[in-house]
Parts: sequence; C-alpha cells; structure tokens
Amino acid sequence: MVGAGPGDPDLITVKGLRRLQAAEVVVYDRLANDELLQHAPPDAELIFAGKGPGAHALGQEEINALLIEKGRAGKRVVRLKGGDPFVFGRGGEEAEALAAAGIPFEVVPGVTSAIAAPAYAGIPVTHRDFTPAFTVVTGHEDPTKGESTVPWESLAAGPDTLVFLMGVGHLEAIGARLIAAGKAPATPVAVVRRGTWPDQQLVLGTLATIAEDAALAGLTAPAVTVVGRVAGLAPSLAWFAGSLTGKTILVTRARDQAGALSARLRSFGARVIEFPAIRIEPAEDYSDLDAALADPTRFDWICFTSVNAVKAIDERLRASGSSWAALGAVRLAAIGPATARALQAEGAVVAYMPDTFLADAVAAGLPDAAGARILLARADIADLRMVEGLERRGARVEQFIAYRTVASDEDAPPLRRALTAGEVDIVTFTSSSTVRNLCQALGDDVPALLSGLTVACIGPVTAGTARECGLTPAIVAEEHTIDGLVEAIRAFLARSDAAG
Ligand code: SAH
Repeated sequence: MVGAGPGDPDLITVKGLRRLQAAEVVVYDRLANDELLQHAPPDAELIFAGKGPGAHALGQEEINALLIEKGRAGKRVVRLKGGDPFVFGRGGEEAEALAAAGIPFEVVPGVTSAIAAPAYAGIPVTHRDFTPAFTVVTGHEDPTKGESTVPWESLAAGPDTLVFLMGVGHLEAIGARLIAAGKAPATPVAVVRRGTWPDQQLVLGTLATIAEDAALAGLTAPAVTVVGRVAGLAPSLAWFAGSLTGKTILVTRARDQAGALSARLRSFGARVIEFPAIRIEPAEDYSDLDAALADPTRFDWICFTSVNAVKAIDERLRASGSSWAALGAVRLAAIGPATARALQAEGAVVAYMPDTFLADAVAAGLPDAAGARILLARADIADLRMVEGLERRGARVEQFIAYRTVASDEDAPPLRRALTAGEVDIVTFTSSSTVRNLCQALGDDVPALLSGLTVACIGPVTAGTARECGLTPAIVAEEHTIDGLVEAIRAFLARSDAAG
C-alpha cells in the first residue's frame, strides 16, 4: 500500500517509487497522479480503481477482492493511493481485508494532502504563536444530518487548527456548526483545491464567509479546508505560484457581475483590476412586459439570454405581487449554465439549455419551436440572431426589453495610468458591450493603450466586436462561460510558457 503523495509527482517517497518500479500490478486511484504510472515496468498491469464523486470505477468490495486475487496469484501488487494510504480513503479497510485473507502486505506512508496542500498554500498547520496541535477531520459527513460522529463542540473548543478533508461541498454547514459551537465567525479559513498540482487554487475567507467565497470562485473537490489562525499566514507565506501568479488581469464586466470572474482569477493567483465598462439599468418602461407576465398562458416559452434578464423578470414579478410559480406551464429556456443557475435559484425549472452557449444555439435547439409563442426577455442592445433563428423555425417571438446596458461612469484615468505603466497583462471581455464601452471610455488612444496586452474574449461574437474595435483577440474561449474563459486564459499562458 503505497502513498502517491498529494499530486506533485515528485512528492512520492523514495521507497514508494522503488516499489512502483518493481510492480507487476498497479491498482491506482483517481487522486494519485497518473504521471507516476510511467515508473511502473512497461509490462505491469495497470488497473484504475476510480473513487471520487460520481466516478466509482470499482466498489470498495471489488477493490478488496481484486487486491486479494492478485495477491493470491503471488503478484507484486502496488496499491497506489493519493496522499497517505492510511489517512482517509479507506486504506485501513483494504489492509484489514488483506490481513483477513492472509495476504502479506506492507505500508509505504505518503505525503498527505492534509499537511501538504496547506504547505503549498503557505500555511504551516502548527505554529508556536498560534497552536500546539492540529486536528484532521472528515468533512464528508453531511453536518446538517441529525447525528454526527464529528464532535463539533470539542473541535470548536480544542486546538486552534482544524483541517477538513472531503468537505468542500459542506462548507456552509461546517462554518455554521463551528460558529454554533463557539468558534469566532471571524476565524480565518483557507480552502486549497488541487494542492501541489499546477492548477492549485486558494480561496481565503472567514468561518462566516468561506462558503460564499469558495462558491463565488467556483471551487469544487478535491480540496482541503484549514480553519484557524494559521490560515491567516497564507498571504505572507505563499511560495508556490498558482497558474496565474504574476499576471494582472483587467475585468470589464458590470460591477455586480464581476465578482465570480475576479474571484476565480484570484484563486489561481492573479492580481485583478476591475473596471466595470458597463452598468445594468432598468428598462425605461415595463408596461408591456408587465402585461405579458400577467397573462403568461399566452406563451409556450420564456427565453432568458442572461442572468440580468432573470433578475429583471424576478423584479417585475415581485413588483406586481406575482411569483415564478404564477408562470405555471410556460417552459423556461436559459442561454447557458449561469442563467440556468439563476433561474434554479428562484426555484424555477429550466426546460431547455443548449449544449453550446451562444444565442444561435437556443434558436437552433429549442424543442417544439414551430408555432411556439415565445416571450424573449433581453437587453436593449442585443444580438438579434436568436430572434431571427427562432422565427425561421416558425416561432412567434415577442421581445421585451428587460434591462438596459449603459456605459459605466467609472473614472477612467486610474485605468489609463495602469495601462500606460504596462501594469496590465490581460484584458477580459465577456460581452460585446464590454468591448465597445471600454473602448469608448478610453477614447482615441485605445489601440495604443491596449496594444501590448493579451485580449481574451468569452466567445466568437465578443471576439468579432473586439476586432471591429481594432483589437486582436489572442484568446477566445471555446466554452462560452466564465469557467471556460478562465480555462482558456490558463491554457494560453501554459502554451506560451512552453513556447518561450
Ligand atoms: N489519503 C489522502 C486523502 C484521501 S480522502 C491523503 O492523505 O491526502 C480524499 C480527500 O483528500 C479529498 O476530498 C480532499 O479533501 C483531499 N485531497 C487529496 N488530494 C488533494 C489535493 N491535491 N489538494 C487538496 N485536497 C486534496
């Protein structure tokens, strides 16, 4: 049973590597870095045991049976497990199964993510000034479920540092439980995702805020959560560069939408400058939209082209004392995942979302479009291809202006100074209106101010607008979402690093 370490392939032990080099069979987990497998002899049998949310390649019983079978056949088997084999991950149970079957085994400890992921984020789990001990806890249990085997009261009263594994899905409840048990809401918390891997992410917050902070940055498993004063050392001790460390990135989205993009970029180490090029304002007149919403049976579908459209409809429904439930049988379509999430947050059911997130895709894929009556809630300036596409398919579209996109009144001189000083590396555009309005805000010398920068666009429509404005987008996201844009930026930088 060999610990593979937390991710960085150099963090396997010398003994673990020797065992791998001599293996006849390797049974490996999802969390172990597959790069390590190249050290196994070419004729070794490699078996993926899976494990991980929704990806059980083999059940635990099957893994145990497999280890016993290969052991009985007299093979040299390496059971390669992420981190340390005896820290969670059911290594103890596998050893018990082997012992019960009389199969001789040895354990080669590994570098556990419980200590290494914090270390790579600049967090020592103990520190003379703060805590003489640390506790490693499973965060896997749903803390909202009745009886908990996790002793929340003693955790809150005990040593300052708590390290949760497998807990990123339960941050809200973990925070609430610890606060209820007496820990200060302002206690520093760090979440380290994919610690020691090149795509490591770090989000800092407090017990009170961390669930929201991590969700905003889009953090998912696998991650380690450190609660306690040592987490506050991360900013000063961060030594391992995230994939965007050293880059300054300009975010031009509207202020109340910039958060998710900025948080995600920061989690990879970027410095972010926000210059909201646009502002979202209510429409001038809602009487037609209100009348349409008052009689929703007139429509088969309502199509939402953005989160702003969802917010605007929500406001209109409230203003007239109505609710989403009152829309009854009208089916709702979302242009992409963020819009779908916004609808779901209102308790609404999303009946259609295209696979690719472009206005044309809704028009092409909307079910039963022929003869359908469609309410389209859109911005004042809009890409009308969706309407044309739907009408070509025989739908009857009634358009309503749900909100207006206006140029922001952001003060441009500080941005000009940052651009002139060469401080900005990458500028991001998430819609055509962000491009047009940034160019307008900067005036005639846009080409000069932006010439040295890498231009990153969320999709081809936005990139087209950038070209019209004299810019040359180097990065166009293939998946037209915030995550897709961040991934495209990281991939671009990885390629240019490799090239240069
Ligand atoms: N035996 C492993 C832990 C297995 S449990 C070890 O010692 O590291 C799986 C959990 O480990 C994940 O849910 C996550 O909380 C944590 N984990 C594993 N690798 C990680 C990494 N590189 N970064 C952050 N967390 C990690």
